[in-house]
Amino acid sequence: MTRALMIVDVQNDFTEGGALGVTGGARVASRITNFLERHADEYDLIVASRDWHDADNDNGGHFALDGQPDFVTTWPVHCVADTPGAGYHPDLEIDDVDIHIRKGMGVPAYSAFDGVDAASGASLADICAKRRVHAMDIVGIATDHCVRATALDAVAAGLDVFVFEDLIAGVAAEPSAAALDEIRAAGGHTGVSDVDTGIEQPGGAQL
Ligand SMILES: [Zn+2]
Repeated sequence: MTRALMIVDVQNDFTEGGALGVTGGARVASRITNFLERHADEYDLIVASRDWHDADNDNGGHFALDGQPDFVTTWPVHCVADTPGAGYHPDLEIDDVDIHIRKGMGVPAYSAFDGVDAASGASLADICAKRRVHAMDIVGIATDHCVRATALDAVAAGLDVFVFEDLIAGVAAEPSAAALDEIRAAGGHTGVSDVDTGIEQPGGAQL
């Protein structure tokens, strides 16, 4: 039985000042670090994902190279591989991260399950199967896009999913609330961490 923590896309381009900056993104980065200080040793596997797009093409139509993104299926240029925008936010401490997933190389990819281990090339699904992951707690950015897609894929993979509502940030409030509803309807669980209270949530699926 293996419990995993999945840190989704806590990258410079998805935090304040980035190409697709999400309000609250930097705060989430430092809060996840606080959470890791308390709980990293309680996870068997800690995974972090990054959007990691090609520089020389539109990544399967994901980039609006005409400068007119619709913010639904086309986006401003963001998270280009090996650029500062694709880097982890500096307030996210990554020393405890075991697996670094990259996704979106030449294609749109919202779910971390669409990505591969930067070191081995293995897919996240294969890593979870090999490590016998049964539960995945999920944090990161953005609630209404990549957190949503990752959580729904994790539920679909049969994992016991818990999303920490105070360790995520969304692009927009209404779609973010809808995403959490969708995750719960699919069978995932949501709740708050103990970062503010120091008290672990009784009855939570986590920890
Ligand atoms: Zn992208």
